[in-house]
Amino acid sequence: MDINFNCTMCGKCCHNLRLPLTVSESIAWLRRGDKVQLFVEAIPWPEEPPPDNLVAAHKRRRSFPATSGSLPIRVVVVIVAAFDGPCPNLLDDMRCGAYESRPLVCRIYPAEINPFISMDVGQKACPPEAWTDAGPPLLREGKIVDSQIAALITESRNTDAAEVEAKSALCQALGINSAALSNEGFVVHTPDQASLQKALESVRLVTAAAPSSWGFVSNRQATANALHSVDAVALSTSTWEDKAAEFLGFFPDDVVVKTSPSPETRS
Ligand code: SF4
Ligand code: SF4
Repeated sequence: MDINFNCTMCGKCCHNLRLPLTVSESIAWLRRGDKVQLFVEAIPWPEEPPPDNLVAAHKRRRSFPATSGSLPIRVVVVIVAAFDGPCPNLLDDMRCGAYESRPLVCRIYPAEINPFISMDVGQKACPPEAWTDAGPPLLREGKIVDSQIAALITESRNTDAAEVEAKSALCQALGINSAALSNEGFVVHTPDQASLQKALESVRLVTAAAPSSWGFVSNRQATANALHSVDAVALSTSTWEDKAAEFLGFFPDDVVVKTSPSPETRS
């Protein structure tokens, strides 16, 4: 696949976002008084997949181990800057007011960070005129041409992997232990922002956190049944309550009636 791209500076990609951040970026975001959330999903991981399963290896690299009931799982936490409307850094003329310190994902957009997602121009915020053949090459045969963007993508993936233990410690510090089943949605945690900043500042140097016990939040009966059958903890959206979190599902509600006790309460 070949794609040419020339940013038109329209600013559309700087609106209504949940913008993934590194730990350092999220601390800076919070220090400016802007909102940060945690998007959390978990993957059942009953056994280690074979080494040639590259998709599993990618998931493993960016997740930390935990349990749900007696089921081994891996938890993926994405720290995001959350804003509706324009980014708090966006200037009136659509330039970035934090250009020199803008997050890694802003430097990479519209390229993809996930190595298993092909770039789909139709899914990007950029207008049609950004994609004309007259623009400089972005992709050639599916590979990023610009060495700086390629290096930023590598940096982003490596940082994601390097921060896994800090994210595990962050969840423990904040009493976060609920996740959506991967590919079914997210549990979006919005901790008290001062507590989140304090926890983020203290976990930056953490190198290991003990595995903790988690519950899967779901709005689907079939998912709850499947989780129960493997002795995992299923929490129904019909009864689950957490004032600092909400379930963001990809599928319509199919009310879950049978639930397991919550593994721990939020401290
Ligand atoms: S930090 Fe800058 S580039 Fe990133 S979304 Fe905000 S305004 Fe846009
Ligand atoms: S939406 Fe695309 S063209 Fe518009 S500012 Fe963002 S990257 Fe540039």
